[in-house]
Amino acid sequence: MKSIFFKLTIILLLINTLFANSRIRENNENVILQLQWKNQFQFAGYYIAKEKGFYKDYKINVTIKQREYGQNVVNEVLNKKAHFATGRSSLIIDRVDGKKVVLLASIFQSSPDILIALKNSNIKNLQDLKNKRVMITGNAKNDIVLKSMLFSKKIQDKDIIVQKHTFDLADLVYGNTDVMASYISNEPFILKNKYHLESKIFDPKDYGFDFYSDILFTHEDFVKKNPMLVKKFKQASLKGWEYAFENINETVNIIYEKYNTQNKSKKALLYEAKELKKLAFYNTKKLGEIKKEKVEKIYNFYKLMGEVNKEIDYDKFIFKSNALQLNSTQLQYLENKKRLKLCIDPNWLPFEKFDKNKKHVGLTKDYYDMFSKKLKIDIKPVYTNSWNQTLEFIKEKKCDILSLAMQTKKREEYLNFTSSYVTVPLVLATKINIPFVDNLMQIKNKKVGIVSGYAFEETLKNHYKDIEFVSIKNIKDGLKKVAEEKIFGVISSIADISFEIRNNYTNELKITAKLDEKLEMAIGLRKDEPILKDIFQKLLDNLNPKFITDIQNKYFSSQVEKYKDYTLFWQTTIFFLFIITIILYWSYKLKIEKTRNEEILKELKATQNELKIKNKRLKFLARVDKLTGVYNRTKLDEVLEKEINRSKRFKRDFSIMLIDIDDFKNINDTYGHLVGDKILIALADLLKIHTRNVDTVGRWGGEEFLIICPETDKLGAVKLAKYLQVKINEFTFEENLKITVSIGLSMFKEDTSDTILKKADIALYDVKENGKNSIEFMDDLPKD
Ligand code: GH3
Ligand code: MG
Ligand code: MG
Repeated sequence: MKSIFFKLTIILLLINTLFANSRIRENNENVILQLQWKNQFQFAGYYIAKEKGFYKDYKINVTIKQREYGQNVVNEVLNKKAHFATGRSSLIIDRVDGKKVVLLASIFQSSPDILIALKNSNIKNLQDLKNKRVMITGNAKNDIVLKSMLFSKKIQDKDIIVQKHTFDLADLVYGNTDVMASYISNEPFILKNKYHLESKIFDPKDYGFDFYSDILFTHEDFVKKNPMLVKKFKQASLKGWEYAFENINETVNIIYEKYNTQNKSKKALLYEAKELKKLAFYNTKKLGEIKKEKVEKIYNFYKLMGEVNKEIDYDKFIFKSNALQLNSTQLQYLENKKRLKLCIDPNWLPFEKFDKNKKHVGLTKDYYDMFSKKLKIDIKPVYTNSWNQTLEFIKEKKCDILSLAMQTKKREEYLNFTSSYVTVPLVLATKINIPFVDNLMQIKNKKVGIVSGYAFEETLKNHYKDIEFVSIKNIKDGLKKVAEEKIFGVISSIADISFEIRNNYTNELKITAKLDEKLEMAIGLRKDEPILKDIFQKLLDNLNPKFITDIQNKYFSSQVEKYKDYTLFWQTTIFFLFIITIILYWSYKLKIEKTRNEEILKELKATQNELKIKNKRLKFLARVDKLTGVYNRTKLDEVLEKEINRSKRFKRDFSIMLIDIDDFKNINDTYGHLVGDKILIALADLLKIHTRNVDTVGRWGGEEFLIICPETDKLGAVKLAKYLQVKINEFTFEENLKITVSIGLSMFKEDTSDTILKKADIALYDVKENGKNSIEFMDDLPKD
C-alpha cells in the first residue's frame, strides 16, 4: 500500500503542476492584427500562427481583420483600433510625415507589384508604354515602385495615359485599357485560367527595384509599453510564416476552409503561395528580414521621386528585437563598475542555490549568465549561508543585485525593483495521509512553516488567521520537520516544494492544497545606484520569449518526467486510473466545463463553416436557372447594369439579343412538357457553345433567352445572331425535332436597362409579326 501512495503522490504532483500551469496561462493578451487586403495566401503566416497555436504559446489571443473597403490601414494603427497591421514600403513616407509607425518584419523582400499587359498586344517592352492607357491606383505612394521602374526607362506621367484603376481584369481583356498595375501572385493566374490569355509582365525587381512589401508594423507607443508582447507577436508570426511556406498544401487547405472570404480556388491559392514564397526568400534566407540599408535605399528612391524630404531616425523606425539598446550613461556606468555583485538565496532549488563547491546553480544562474553576456560585464555571486544573511548583505551593499525577490514595502526602503519576471503559485505540502484541502481556511490551529524572511509571510499571516505560522530555515529543513511530524505543513512555491518532494520525500509528503496567492518575483537593485534598475529593466524588456520557454521547460515541466522507475507504475495503473477519475471529477470540474465549452464552440464553428459553404452555393444557385444551367434573370440584370455603366464610362459598344422559340406551345402540346424541357436545355447549351466566353447567356423566362455581348456593335451583333440561327436550324433536337427561333436585337446608346431591353423586345415582336424564324434590329425607340 505504501508504494501506491508513493505513486499517487507523483500523479497528484503532476496534476497539480498541470493545474498550476493552466492557472498561470490565464492572463492572455488580446491583440488585433489589421491586414492590408482581403484574406488570401498573402497573409498565410498569420492564419497559421493562430491556427497552429503559435500565438497561444506566447499567451496572445489574436483577432485577424481583413481590410474593409476604403479603410486606411495605417490610420487603424495610429488611431489604436489595431495593435498590428501589414503595409507597404510607403510606411517610410508615413514615418517622414510624422506618423509614429514602427517596422517589425518584412514578409516579402521584393514587392509583388507588377505591370501586366496581354501577351498578344503590341506592348513588348517598357518603351512601348508611351501614349498607352495605364491603370494604376492613382495613389502615388502605392505606385512608387512601378513609377520608379518606368522612370528608370525615362517614362514619366506625361508620357502615358493614366486611368483610374477599376480592379477588374476584364477591362484589360476587353481592351478598355492597355496595361494594369497588378499583383504577380494573382492577376497572371486569373488571366490564364479565366480568360485563357497569356500575360506580358513588367516586374520592377527585374529593373533593380526590389522594395520591401507586406511589412508587419505597429505603433511606437505600443512598442514602448509592451516591448515583450511586440517581440512575442513578431516571433510567433514569423514561425507561422515559416510553417506556411514549408507546408503550402496544408496551409492552402486551411485558408480555403476557414479564411476564404474571396472564394478563391485551391489552384489560385497554390499559385499565389508559390509566387509569394519566391518573394519572401528573394535574396535572403532570413524570413521577415528588415535591413536598415535597404530601408535607406528605398527612402532614397522616394527622395528622388520627390515624395520625401525630411530625414528619418532609423533606430526608432525599425524595431530591434535582440540588440540591447543602452544609452551612453548606462554604458559608461557599467564600464566604471567593471563587475556586478549578485546575492542569491543559498538554498532554494530549482530557483537557485550554492552547491557543495559554493557555486551558483539553478534557474537564476541561467538568467544571470545571459544578462552578463548581454551587458558584457562580469556578474559575480556573493556567497551567503541563509536567506536572512542574503538580505543583510544586500542591505549592507555587499552586493548590487538581489537575484529573485518579491517586492515589499519594507524592501523598497533599500531596493529598487524591476517588473516581476518569475511567477509561481504557492502550495501547501503535508504528510501523504492528509486529505486534500480545498480551502486553506479549513486548517485551524496547525503549525505551518514558512522560510523566515520570505515576503509572503505577512500576507499569509493576515489572510489565514487560524493557522499558526512558524519560521523554518529553508524548504529542505521545513519539509524534514513535516516528515518528522513536528509541524503540519510548509507553504512555498510549487516549484521548490515539488522539487524537494520529488528528490527526498516521494512516499512521505505531498502537495495538499494550492493557494490563491502567487509568488511574483522581480530583481532587486541597490537604491543608491538607480541607473542599475534602468539597465536591468531593459534586460527584462528585451528577454527572448524562446529563452523563457526553454527555462520553463528546463526547471519546471521536466521535474515529473525525470522520475525513472516505471515498473511499479504499470502494476498499479488500473488502480490509479480509478483514483484519478475521482480526483479529476472532484477537483477539475471547472476544467471539464472549459473543455466542454471548447467542444461546443468547435461544433458551432463547424456548423458555421457548413453554413458558409451552403450560403456560397445558394448564392451561386440564386444566379443560375435550375432547368438549363445558364444564368437566370437576376444575374442577367446584374450583368446588364454593369455593362451599361462600363459602356457609359469608356464610350464602348455593347449589344443584346432576345431569342424566343417559335411555336413552342405546339411542341409542348404535341410531345409533352418533358420533351419541351429537354429542348430548352439543348438550346441553352447550343447558345453557350456558339457564343464567345465574354458573352453572357441567360434564360430571360419561359422559352426566351437573353444574350449580352460586350464590345459588340450592330454589325457584330447581327452577325452573331445570324450565326446562332444557322446553328439552331441545323441542330436536331429530342424526338428528331427541328426548331426555329426569332431574335430581336438592340445596341447600347445612352440607354437604361429598361430602354435597351424594350428595343430588343419590339424588334422581336416585329419578327413574330412578320412570320418568325428571322432577325430584326431596333436602333431607336419610337418617340411617343
Ligand atoms: P411564339 O412563336 O409566338 O413564340 O409561340 P409560342 O408558342 O412559343 O409562344 P407562347 O409565349 O404562347 O408560349 C410559350 C410556351 O412556352 C408556353 C409554355 O407552356 C412554354 N414554356 C414556358 N416555360 C417552359 C418550361 O420550362 N418547360 C416547358 N416544357 N415549356 C415551357
Ligand atoms: Mg415567348
Ligand atoms: Mg415562343
